Amino acid sequence: MINCKLQEKSVTLQPIFPLFMDSKEKLPLLGLTADELKEVVGSLGMPAFTGKQIAGWIYEKGVASIDEMTNISKKNRELLAERYTVGRRDAIMVQTSVDGTRKYLFPAGTANATVETVFIPDGDRATLCVSCQVGCKMNCLFCQTGKQGFEGHLSATDILNQIYSLPERDLLTNIVFMGQGEPMDNLDNVLRATSLLTADYGWAWSPKRITVSSVGVKNKLKRFLDESQCHVAISLHSPIHEQRMELMPAEKAMSIEDVVALLRQYDFSHQRRLSFEYIVFGGVNDTLDHAKAIVRLLAGLECRINLIRFHQIPDVPLHGAEDRKMEQLRDYLTAHGVFTTIRASRGQDIYAACGLLNTKRKQDNSEYSAHSDYSDYSDHSE
Ligand code: SF4
Repeated sequence: MINCKLQEKSVTLQPIFPLFMDSKEKLPLLGLTADELKEVVGSLGMPAFTGKQIAGWIYEKGVASIDEMTNISKKNRELLAERYTVGRRDAIMVQTSVDGTRKYLFPAGTANATVETVFIPDGDRATLCVSCQVGCKMNCLFCQTGKQGFEGHLSATDILNQIYSLPERDLLTNIVFMGQGEPMDNLDNVLRATSLLTADYGWAWSPKRITVSSVGVKNKLKRFLDESQCHVAISLHSPIHEQRMELMPAEKAMSIEDVVALLRQYDFSHQRRLSFEYIVFGGVNDTLDHAKAIVRLLAGLECRINLIRFHQIPDVPLHGAEDRKMEQLRDYLTAHGVFTTIRASRGQDIYAACGLLNTKRKQDNSEYSAHSDYSDYSDHSE
């Protein structure tokens, strides 16, 4: 998802580790449930409790190799390592902003694909923005990833790897699925990843620390709402059907009215939270009429709106709204009962916009400059 924009600056990519690829023949253990791990060890003639031990090593202790699972006999570790690998792969590049925001490129899949993951520290909180697809099918007008086209779904292994192989993993307080790709379009793997993050035998995180975003995808959004307790963030960007269709072609398949009608069937007044992301484009969606239409659309719904600054990206006829317009929007919405914040921009001096670092890497040595920043997803309300 977007929520990220660009800054006019050429940045030299900084390799941090050599690209490490696991043997293609070996299957990753990261991403398997406790029951599946039990089946793995059973098929190798090991006792069932070894599956539980492996889950502990992978998900609680976060080991990167089978050899580190020292309470499993050497013989069994060797047997396991013949067919399996943990599935961890280090980032191949990182960029660090002056404000501490770090953008990583992680390998994904078996080809030379990569995805972006952004670490956003903020005082005693630290949020990680993860990707769920290489590219995206949704083709939102304002998004660099959308322009990349769709290259593939990330497996649960590759989604979890962005978290487990993150150097700052132990500092994380929140995870948002707002990187590259539409989570509902890769729902099985997103649900598998979030359930492993929240499982008792997994990372045992509360779903309150995880937010999954969506443009609104028919049937998939309902399934997600039914099967997960994670927070939900809907990409709104315009309350007007025709205009939202221009900005986000996904509006054709599921209108924002239908998205909101579906959301009204769920309870967001207790543990689970609903937010709407709204990128403000100058002269496009920053008027009083838009504010009134948002109030009508969301009337009575327990939610909040996050207004996000936009900075121009190449070949897109949109520009950011003035601060004054954003403040007017915020004040009108707040005065009419819709709790609204303006997200702080983060990582303006790096290519923190979703899709930009990948684009830059693909362009190799060619010059690339754009405006970029990254919204601060840290939530101080909990
Ligand atoms: S094109 Fe895809 S990644 Fe980009 S904003 Fe739209 S849904 Fe998100």
